[in-house]
Amino acid sequence: MMGGYAGKHLEVDLTDGSFKNVPLDEWAAKTFIGGQGYANWLLWKMTEPGTEPLGPDNLLIVSTGPITGLAGGTDRGDATFKSPLTGLWGNSQFGGFWCSELKFAGYDGIILRGMAENPVFLWVKDDETEVMDARHIWGKGVAETDQIIKEELKDPLVRVLCIGPAGENLCGEASLVQNAQHYAARTGGGAVMGSKNVKAIAVRGTKGMPPLADPDECFRISENDVKTKWSERSMHRRTYRWLKFGPQASHVERADHGIGIFKNFDEGDHPDVPSLGGPRQLRMCRVRDDSCTYCPVGCIHTSLVRSGPMKGSYASPKWDSTANIAQQTSMFDMNGMVYCNAICNDLGMDAEGVGNTVAWAMECYEKGILSREDLDGLDLTWGNVEAEAKLIWKICHREGVGDLLAGGFKHFLPEVGRGSEDFAMQSKGCGFGGYQPYAWHTFGMPYRWGVAYSVNDIGGHHNTASASAYWNNSLTYCSFATGLNDRKKLDLLNAATGYDLTYPEDWNRYGLRFILFARAYNIREGYGGVMPPSEADVLPKKAFKKFTYGAAEGEQMTVEDWLEGRLRWYKDHGCDERGVPTKDALRDLGLEFTIDEMEKAGAWGT
Ligand code: SF4
Repeated sequence: MMGGYAGKHLEVDLTDGSFKNVPLDEWAAKTFIGGQGYANWLLWKMTEPGTEPLGPDNLLIVSTGPITGLAGGTDRGDATFKSPLTGLWGNSQFGGFWCSELKFAGYDGIILRGMAENPVFLWVKDDETEVMDARHIWGKGVAETDQIIKEELKDPLVRVLCIGPAGENLCGEASLVQNAQHYAARTGGGAVMGSKNVKAIAVRGTKGMPPLADPDECFRISENDVKTKWSERSMHRRTYRWLKFGPQASHVERADHGIGIFKNFDEGDHPDVPSLGGPRQLRMCRVRDDSCTYCPVGCIHTSLVRSGPMKGSYASPKWDSTANIAQQTSMFDMNGMVYCNAICNDLGMDAEGVGNTVAWAMECYEKGILSREDLDGLDLTWGNVEAEAKLIWKICHREGVGDLLAGGFKHFLPEVGRGSEDFAMQSKGCGFGGYQPYAWHTFGMPYRWGVAYSVNDIGGHHNTASASAYWNNSLTYCSFATGLNDRKKLDLLNAATGYDLTYPEDWNRYGLRFILFARAYNIREGYGGVMPPSEADVLPKKAFKKFTYGAAEGEQMTVEDWLEGRLRWYKDHGCDERGVPTKDALRDLGLEFTIDEMEKAGAWGT
């Protein structure tokens, strides 16, 4: 048995309430590591092509990795499923405390399948598992759910991963939420959990870390290297900024670089952006600082609205959620930003994704595509905090126009039409992150953000188009916690497991494998390959606009720029000119088992 792994997943069938241990597959663990990579292998193996995302046969796989719990920034979890938002590969990460706790309970992950008859929550305490009645907490927000479960189980150290009303109402933007402030927000994992009638997974583990191949070396890397690095870096600008102001400090910086997303991506800069910045948040409403287990960055800064009609709202806003909920809707109101984030958070809703939807609806309203009557009387003008908050609430509860918008872009764009798809800032049905598509250098790669948004296998998110991002999500390691560089992460993995992976050779090879495997899954599900190139990995027209204001003035990504970048990304990542992985690349990476099903899906046009 390799070190670092607990050695088994817990599989729960909600339909009949049964559960069993699924032993770790050593070949798959060595090939796909853990977290996102291993979970994608499980999803491929344990589901049929064409599985209905909200049906009982879909899986919700929540996983740790072999270094989870070993160092600052490693208490991360991965949620993998077929996405109800996009109909494709669904994936999102979360921090907090839950993942180490699961590992300490003796599991590498939990696989949910089936559908319970009534609302339940799962209680995992070391080797004991119980399916508990959750009818009394169905409908409650995530903070209250967390509290009630801890009280019921009489243990404040129980870690709870739950959904809010958005997940219960099967919204495409529904999140999974840990400790009421850490979100696996993207692509609708909360709706998959809701479709299974599962309100929460509560975990308590007392067994400690599984055995490690070389505990002394793990200790040396995690204690000495990480600690030394962080003390050396304590004066590093980014670390200092994260520690002091949190990711929100980026509002002003991004605008200064012209890559903000003001007014549904109309402009990259705005004169009022300092009103949303970290220093102002610190002065006006910061009340508490927090971190995930062991993490010295501590980027979680809770804010409270102290006065006015929104008084008492609190949230721990992050960069993308604040950018999409505030910049994108032209809201220059710190209290409003905290308020709308707080609503999303407690409802268990992806603030980033629903921010995209609200901004699109505001532009529809401005252009006369959606009238006030269509919007149930909401005056959805730019920056109208109350109207934005009400629309978020309606989407979560599927009330009136909210029911139309609740499924996400892929579901409502065909119904609304009338050119509104041109300014729907999304790809594959998943809304863009908080960066302008024209901007360069996505996570150290030589591509524009627009290329990343278009080729990313979960859709318009910025994160998972690079080998490093896939590695982080498979290990699991937080991309904000820059204490370990890629080489050191691999050293820690080798010390924990006994692997002998090399940097950069294996690092790059594995990274490509992770990317092509996700791509293979989407092709199996009918995306890419069989589709005309003009319909796969595409962007809305507005992504190619020319900017007229501030630091972004004159900037533009042309269609030709983007097509050239996309083709370069395909070539750099073992794909043909249509973005389909070549059979040679698949064989070379040990993914030959995907070829038959991809062929059946018409991947290579046969
Ligand atoms: S950087 Fe922030 S999100 Fe990442 S592990 Fe540290 S505290 Fe958690």
